[in-house]
Amino acid sequence: MKKFKILLITLSIFLFSFSYAILKFEKKITILNRENFNESLEKNINKIFPKICEKRVFEVNLSKNLIYFFENCKLKEIMSIAYQAPEGKWYQTPTGYFRIGIKKEKHISSLFPVYMNYAVQMYEDFFIHEIPIYLNGARVTSNFSGGCIRLETENAKKFFKLAQPGDLVISYKELNTNKFKKYFHPPVDLSQFFIRQRFNNPIRVKWENAKNTENRKHDYIQHAGVDLTPNPDAKDLNAYSIFDGKIVKIIKNGEEDHGLGNSVIIEFDNKLCDFEKDLCKKFNKIYALYAHLESINPDLKENLFIKKGEIIGKVGATGYGCNYWRIGDDGCNKTSPLDTHLHLEIKTSPVLESPLPASCFVNGSYKNCFGYTPDNPENYGYINPINFLFQLNK
Ligand SMILES: [Zn+2]
Repeated sequence: MKKFKILLITLSIFLFSFSYAILKFEKKITILNRENFNESLEKNINKIFPKICEKRVFEVNLSKNLIYFFENCKLKEIMSIAYQAPEGKWYQTPTGYFRIGIKKEKHISSLFPVYMNYAVQMYEDFFIHEIPIYLNGARVTSNFSGGCIRLETENAKKFFKLAQPGDLVISYKELNTNKFKKYFHPPVDLSQFFIRQRFNNPIRVKWENAKNTENRKHDYIQHAGVDLTPNPDAKDLNAYSIFDGKIVKIIKNGEEDHGLGNSVIIEFDNKLCDFEKDLCKKFNKIYALYAHLESINPDLKENLFIKKGEIIGKVGATGYGCNYWRIGDDGCNKTSPLDTHLHLEIKTSPVLESPLPASCFVNGSYKNCFGYTPDNPENYGYINPINFLFQLNK
């Protein structure tokens, strides 16, 4: 009996300290406005790790409508996003790696007669701010933004206070939120990768129309593919063939790769039309381009056939170059850890450039478009890879 008592006391001390430890940990994380928060997220809060470990990182999760703040790789705050921009518009909320720019506590929009208080610059014209207020004091009631991220007042104040110029911002979407079409093979392991740059994502290339609401979009080019980036703990870095098809082109890094690095173009087999009747009515042939590969599977040869699920190569960071785009800021010819991703395009011609003629303003001059188009890529023979691969209406 005595033994049992001791055991009971030990057990209760253990349980007490254990729950205290949990409480202590939870206390460090402030969760503001819980409307985008659910039980499963609450349960898994200890498993949320940053995509990149830096001293201060904000992660804008556009799938969950949440902003995470990490300090020294530890989750410190979670804030809800009230509204973002509708997808598919040129001004859809940008995805990518950014640095916090200017901060304006009281800010009158240069484009519309509204206050956008607690405004923090995320990328060029795109800010994170309080839900806008008309000059007469009324709140703007639309439930989507013109590209910016809108926060409820409490969150906006908190974010404004926390964000410091130069802090890293990673804006992304998750890959495993929509239903994957069963007749395809995922191009990468969907549970280990995220969308770091969406299709149609705006990238600023000039500043000619900064003050003009109508023409502002001409200062941006749009991403013609989708960038799939491995999580820091990803084990499977293979790129896989989406469907049966014919290898039509293998381009090696340093050849005429136009910044796309090691690339493979595959023509989808006609069996695709059993599943994608509408696309087949519209387009003669459909191709997939896999770019920036670290290495290409040596068994692949032009004109050979490939089955779905076979390995195309390893996801990498080859390509870029001074004449094209860069994500990192460490010089033209080096790669940065931020560059590793699969650039995947679904297109209607077996070429690296835009299937339809297009001219893009890149680094000071107009040239053929690779990976980007002057406006919506769907107008230039590209298909949104996410719409192609996933069942969007549940
Ligand atoms: Zn890309």
